[in-house]
Amino acid sequence: MKKIIIAMDGHSSCGKSTMAKALAKKIGYTYIDTGAMYRAVTLYALRRGFIKADAIDEESLRRELPSVEISFGHDAEGCQYTILNGENVEREIRGMEVSGKVSPISALPFVREAMTAQQRVMGSRGAIIMDGRDIGTTVFPNAELKIFVTASDEIRARRRFDELTLKGESPVYEEVLKNVRERDYIDSHRAVSPLRQAQDAVVLDNSHMTFEEQDKWLMDQYLKAAAE
Ligand code: C5P
Repeated sequence: MKKIIIAMDGHSSCGKSTMAKALAKKIGYTYIDTGAMYRAVTLYALRRGFIKADAIDEESLRRELPSVEISFGHDAEGCQYTILNGENVEREIRGMEVSGKVSPISALPFVREAMTAQQRVMGSRGAIIMDGRDIGTTVFPNAELKIFVTASDEIRARRRFDELTLKGESPVYEEVLKNVRERDYIDSHRAVSPLRQAQDAVVLDNSHMTFEEQDKWLMDQYLKAAAE
């Protein structure tokens, strides 16, 4: 089997990371969650007070971005978590506050440039599954396998709602739905690396699929691409 790069892009909350993690574990690949990187930058900007009610202090964020270090760790059960300047911020980056601000921060060209450069280094040795919005179009346009995942807005919001509830938060379904739609809109309409399906991507609409069905579908795609 060839060691390949698998690029998984798609809409918010359609289960990309769950599928990607499951496949990575089975085939011994490294999984890289690029959404977590944008979320970590957003958390940093929030903590430093760079995100105001109606504007972002871009100059301050641009100045401090070189000192924002993002990496990933694994706990005893093998679950991946995100580290921002030495601190485990996994829980905080998944909350509604960061979700509400991450798309405008991700639209800033200097933020994208910095994250894209780091992601290319992380994936340079191959045997990786990277999920995000622009992996197959910008970060690794030559990836051997590109998947574009989508599902209906309502189903995606319900999944995110359930995930937040499980974590002990008290989300409001309508707010989660609004956030999913807003992020898709901003992600698809930004000037730099907008979310779009790469021409050579295989599309998966998992609205009505079980985890087992989608895992099998993804494994089949991998086996085909890695054998070619
Ligand atoms: O994947 P996740 O939903 O955690 O991503 C959070 C946000 O990060 C997205 O809504 C998008 O604004 C941004 N993002 C991005 N490019 C990526 C990954 C995520 O702009 N490659």
